[in-house]
Amino acid sequence: MTEKKLEAKITINGRVQGVGYRPFVYREAVKKGLKGYVINLGDAGVEIVVEGIENNVVSFIKVLKKDSPAVSEIKDFKIIFSPFKNRFKNFTIEKSRNKDDIASGIIPPDIGICEECAKDMDKERSRWFNYPFTACASCGPRFTGVYQLPYDRERSHMKDFPMCEHCEKEYYDPMDRRFDAQGITCSICGPQMSLYDAQGIKIQTNDVFSTTANLLGSGYIVAIKGIGGIHLAALADDDEVIIKLRKRKNRPRQPFAIMSSSLEEVKKFANLNKIEEKILTSWRRPIVLLRRKKNCLISDMVAPGLDKIGVMLPYSGIHLALFKKIKKSALIMTSANPSGLPMIIKNDHAFQHLKGIADFFLLHNREIVNRCDDTVLNIILNKYSFLRRSRGFVPDPIDIPIEKGFSIVVGAELRNSAAIAINGRCFLTQYLGDITTLESREFENEAINYFKKLLNITRNPDVIGCDLHPSYMTSHLAENISHNMGVKLIKIQHHHAHISSVSCENKLGIDEEVIGIALDGAGYGLDGAIWGGEVIKSNYKSFERLGHLEYLPMPGGDLCTYYPSRMLISALTNVLDDDEIRDITKNHVKLKFPYGEKEFEIILKQARKIETIKTSSAGRFLDSIAAITNICHERTYEGEPAILLEVLAKKKVKEKLDFEVEIEKINGIYVLKTSNFLYNLIKMKNNKNNHVLAYYGQNYLVKGFAELASLVAYEKGINKICLSGGVFANEYILKELYRLLTSQGFKIFFNTMVPSGDGGTALGQTIISLANVI
Ligand SMILES: [Zn+2]
Ligand SMILES: [Zn+2]
Ligand SMILES: [Zn+2]
Repeated sequence: MTEKKLEAKITINGRVQGVGYRPFVYREAVKKGLKGYVINLGDAGVEIVVEGIENNVVSFIKVLKKDSPAVSEIKDFKIIFSPFKNRFKNFTIEKSRNKDDIASGIIPPDIGICEECAKDMDKERSRWFNYPFTACASCGPRFTGVYQLPYDRERSHMKDFPMCEHCEKEYYDPMDRRFDAQGITCSICGPQMSLYDAQGIKIQTNDVFSTTANLLGSGYIVAIKGIGGIHLAALADDDEVIIKLRKRKNRPRQPFAIMSSSLEEVKKFANLNKIEEKILTSWRRPIVLLRRKKNCLISDMVAPGLDKIGVMLPYSGIHLALFKKIKKSALIMTSANPSGLPMIIKNDHAFQHLKGIADFFLLHNREIVNRCDDTVLNIILNKYSFLRRSRGFVPDPIDIPIEKGFSIVVGAELRNSAAIAINGRCFLTQYLGDITTLESREFENEAINYFKKLLNITRNPDVIGCDLHPSYMTSHLAENISHNMGVKLIKIQHHHAHISSVSCENKLGIDEEVIGIALDGAGYGLDGAIWGGEVIKSNYKSFERLGHLEYLPMPGGDLCTYYPSRMLISALTNVLDDDEIRDITKNHVKLKFPYGEKEFEIILKQARKIETIKTSSAGRFLDSIAAITNICHERTYEGEPAILLEVLAKKKVKEKLDFEVEIEKINGIYVLKTSNFLYNLIKMKNNKNNHVLAYYGQNYLVKGFAELASLVAYEKGINKICLSGGVFANEYILKELYRLLTSQGFKIFFNTMVPSGDGGTALGQTIISLANVI
């Protein structure tokens, strides 16, 4: 009896380009004795046609669904069966039918080195023994290495390294793991690492990794060029070395990320749950914030005062080769970016800008096409909470609920990302840093142009979006782009963008109204004040402000963000006269100012001046509490007072909270008052510990906004509440607000795909811009 034969046409959509998917299909088809072809359809995915024995076709389809390469992601899988026609002689990988097909397929993010390639580095006789650039069709750099699409060697950072005969053979062999791998390379034909001293003079050594390991082990700071940029590496278990690094980088307390050699080593110094373990070990290889164990081998100086440390695993052969020699659980690996400038990616810039910071330089001769910082995320409520969305996630698009139109938006100012959206997909750029210098603004401009090129878009956008803030450099950039292209510019209120980023992630419909709670550092308000503790009712087209934190003057403007005590004095001027404030700050609460008494008196005067700029910022409210609890008098990095408060508030507090939140309706808008509360908190200092005060302070914000939001939600008959803004990086505040509001029956949404901080505003700006022009 002959077995039944048939033909099947399979179309697969998702992340199936540039991840070794077609060679995988080829190998499986050949194994099962099937004939036919697989072809790249660009943006439309891949098409497979096979013919052969029915059982084999069926088991082939099962394997396609089940065992595809780790990095691939199947969104859509369609099969059409038809009678056997005996059309094919063998199985082939066909080139795309037209050029546009290839160009329209977006490249994947960078892929951490795979296990197979890592194993090759351990084989003594292999061409890849200790060779750090080894990669195959399913691993290696992508986004950081591609100049232009279609993605092939000539248009990538491998263009200067022609394949040797061995590599070439493997490249053309469909049964080989490195078949069609654009990044294929080996010790004979590929890039090389070199070690240099601080003067840029090459150090002669047979083994750069051994020598580097010895230098690191002796306490030197080494700049190491990796995949998306240059890191500064140093010992993570030596206080003196870390103090030296802090001094040289002028970062007195900012937490440093560490890289650990393996998951087993991580478990020696950190506690992690299954979700944290999964993302830490995934091919995306982000920095994950993990709870550090007490008295562990990692120095307290790595993240002073914090209960979590940012940890990542090696993601390139460079890191693996180094850890093989250094035999340490972990090393500090912090981005080398000179103040105000983007991370360094060029060798000559490294020598120039890291003078006096790095003692040695471990560099390679391959270009980094796209700078891409490490992603940083925390797991809160079992979901990703991004502090920075970059390497390993960019350029993955986010599906948005408006499926037509083309927009370019520039984001906010600090820790920024821009975005391009076309036909229902939004592409956030890599992390761009703070856009406060001409250099960083130029980097943003380049990033936007790169994404346009990547997406093969030559026409002008339908709309350009930017923040409402008149003096943000990004706003000026948007004005320039709009002017040059003659395209409409939409200026977007900061917190409307934050809240819309949440609605957008959750694909809420275009007219759907939500109540938004934006708790944030600063955003320019419609009335010219600095907003940042807001309750709004919004859809994508417009918003209405329904409630906010009490306005307080910001004596000295931006100086308030650096010196928390300033905001506390400001709040006290609402409830006390000058002499009372002098008394309280002398006898009951320690405040610190760089210029002492004189400065204090000036602040008092400024706070009482009618023209002093006002703020409703939740960040500044938390600053006041940081001052009362004496944990932070000078902010040395973004969010420091709030982060330290969070740690303090996590300590177990037995007593029940006994305060009422004070809400007042002023000109039709609800105002959550804070001045009296802060004064009462100072009075509590006599008989309560600082961690109890921190607990009270954060709960006032939580309880106040839960009441405020439920009040307006009932009034407006809206059940969906979106939470966004930089303050939601605070785990305690997010969890508590989530708990309180869900217990009242509200449906709560928060950011899980983009940062809740300003790095996520580009997504909100995108959907608002598109909603206003389509
Ligand atoms: Zn590999
Ligand atoms: Zn080679
Ligand atoms: Zn913000």
